Amino acid sequence: MLHNYDPVIKKMNYRFLSSLLIISLIVGVVEGLVMLLLNLYQQGGGLLTELEETVLDTFLLALMSAPLLWFVVLRPLVMQISREQETALEQSRLNAQLRNAINAHSLVSIADVDGRIIHANDKFCEVSGYTQDELLGKDHRILNSGYHDKAYIRTMWQTITQGLVWQGVFCNRRKDGNFYWVTSTIMPLLDDTGKPYQYISIRQDMTAEKETNAELIMLKRAVDACAEMIVLTNNEGYIQYANPALCQATGWTQAMLIGCKPDVLDSPNADVSAIAAMRTALAKGKSWAGRILQRRKGIASLHIAGQTTPPDSLEFWVELNITPVFNRDGSQTGYVQIQRDIQCFQYRLVTI
Ligand code: FAD
Repeated sequence: MLHNYDPVIKKMNYRFLSSLLIISLIVGVVEGLVMLLLNLYQQGGGLLTELEETVLDTFLLALMSAPLLWFVVLRPLVMQISREQETALEQSRLNAQLRNAINAHSLVSIADVDGRIIHANDKFCEVSGYTQDELLGKDHRILNSGYHDKAYIRTMWQTITQGLVWQGVFCNRRKDGNFYWVTSTIMPLLDDTGKPYQYISIRQDMTAEKETNAELIMLKRAVDACAEMIVLTNNEGYIQYANPALCQATGWTQAMLIGCKPDVLDSPNADVSAIAAMRTALAKGKSWAGRILQRRKGIASLHIAGQTTPPDSLEFWVELNITPVFNRDGSQTGYVQIQRDIQCFQYRLVTI
């Protein structure tokens, strides 16, 4: 895009007008001189032949039309050339800025048709730990960590040698032996016949993301495997996660619990003062621990007037611990609730 188009045109027009003025001045002076000389010549008795007169008239006419020719024919031509030069200049400035942006953001390397590195940017060197000199002329296999199987590499090569763009992930090895992960786009540069003559590769370092994901997966597996019953809620108290131990003990499924409040687990006979104390502590952003009577999913014992209601076998006591969870910035994101079936625990203790 040409940002400074108008000032350029104005500058050009100014130059043309001033040059037109100078040309017209020169033409006027030259014509005046010619006429003066002709006059002097004729006063001295000289006479021009018909041919000489024709030549002189043609010369004077050409001289007079020079400013017009300059303005009408040459001006648009020069303006056009100058506009194209300005566009090309602007384009190359833009290309340089784009190159700088890509270099600041990504690891960039270029390989020749045989896969030998012919360019590696600073970020590539910084992340891989190799210097330019160590990389140039080498195959990218210098980074190979052995993580990917041959079929993965083969598919990549098959894609790019066909002139197509390949996108994927590489687990590479730094010079110091540590692994790093990159998302990669490899784009073949094609000649006039459509055959690749170079490959440009642009990558983003995703090592931190990969490590965080691995950590999250590990934590999720641990919470899933935990024998204690665990519930995670959001700030409003709606369940976002319930672990298998809780589902198994209560008869609720994850799908049923998600979006409910944990009080669906409470028995109708639960101690209201304990529940009130819990709510007060949580409202103040504090954790709470205590015993609560809960109830497994199922139909309540039938109460018949005048008859003794049998004990509700679905009820069970839990020792409950609810803790608010905070972000790094101190804002609360929700609660983690860990509970243990005390009856079951005590029963186990008794039977051991
Ligand atoms: P190999 O046993 O060498 O090859 C497996 C199969 O791939 C072969 O059987 C063959 O079918 C095919 N193949 C291998 N080399 C070529 C070739 N030169 N031409 C055509 N087909 C071939 N590798 C990484 O490990 N990490 C990277 O970050 C990485 N970036 C690359 C960036 C670019 C621009 C290019 C062109 C290649 C890149 N490679 C990268 C691939 C690298 O050059 C090696 O091919 C690869 O590391 C060798 O892996 P290997 O020994 O497991 O496979």
